[in-house]
Amino acid sequence: MNKEEYENFWNELVNAQIAELHKFEKKEIFEGCMPIEVMAKRGIDTLRYGPLKPVGFDDPRTGKRPYALIQLRQDDKCASMYNLVGFQTNLKFGEQKRVFSLIPGLEDAEFIKYGVMHRNTYLNSSVLLDETYNLKLNNNIFFAGQITGVEGYVESISSGMVASINAIRKFNEKEKITFPETTIIGALAKYISTPNKKFQPMNANFGILPELNEKIKDKKLKYKKLGERALENLREMF
Ligand SMILES: Cc1cc2nc3c(=O)[nH]c(=O)nc-3n(C[C@H](O)[C@H](O)[C@H](O)COP(=O)(O)OP(=O)(O)OC[C@H]3O[C@@H](n4cnc5c(N)ncnc54)[C@H](O)[C@@H]3O)c2cc1C
Repeated sequence: MNKEEYENFWNELVNAQIAELHKFEKKEIFEGCMPIEVMAKRGIDTLRYGPLKPVGFDDPRTGKRPYALIQLRQDDKCASMYNLVGFQTNLKFGEQKRVFSLIPGLEDAEFIKYGVMHRNTYLNSSVLLDETYNLKLNNNIFFAGQITGVEGYVESISSGMVASINAIRKFNEKEKITFPETTIIGALAKYISTPNKKFQPMNANFGILPELNEKIKDKKLKYKKLGERALENLREMF
């Protein structure tokens, strides 16, 4: 999108009609999975720093970076269906067709499935589970995946791995193990099992890791060091 196309799209998006929500849907919005229209209402440029960020793509026709960019994810093997990445929405279906058809290239797209918001149900793990995703009140029960308050594909896999390793160890009458909290796997497990009155689902991110001993301003270098420390601690574990 160029500036004009983006501003027109943004204007239509923030003024579009929203589907009526049930009471239970209104409560809270997970920052990592916010409806696109809610994000847009935070400011005209918010989407350009979020799902419509044009970084890392130069238009091959012009060699220039576009003003805003939408990512399509292939949805079937024969590449006939795509979804719009980051477009969770509560807009009415008719409005979705009208507003999303304004995206250059999608003027004639057929909409097979409209966006709906999902409800994320999760345990209050901060009270109920320990660092191995084991239920404190009955340690024959382990939980895995998003229901524990981790959010995302890899995060869910990591919780399943920790839970299953420990379920097997418990069955074999071995001590349970935890991953170092300097690793994302360990930090996520610690996060979900630490008392927290405002417990909310968590993605893998550098913010949940303990600080490094040294202060490093350069983000790239800092993340590299955090990664190296995690691998080092992981090696020590085995
Ligand atoms: C629209 C959308 C987009 C997303 N995009 C991303 C993304 O880009 N990247 C990312 O990392 N994460 C994304 N997520 C989050 C990701 O999908 C979840 O965090 C992850 O799939 C959770 O894995 P899970 O195995 O815990 O649960 P699920 O994948 O939900 O698996 C649970 C399974 O249990 C089954 N089930 C439920 N109840 C029963 C029952 N009573 N009996 C038998 N089976 C049952 C369900 O049918 C389902 O197959 C997205 C989620 C949504 C909704």
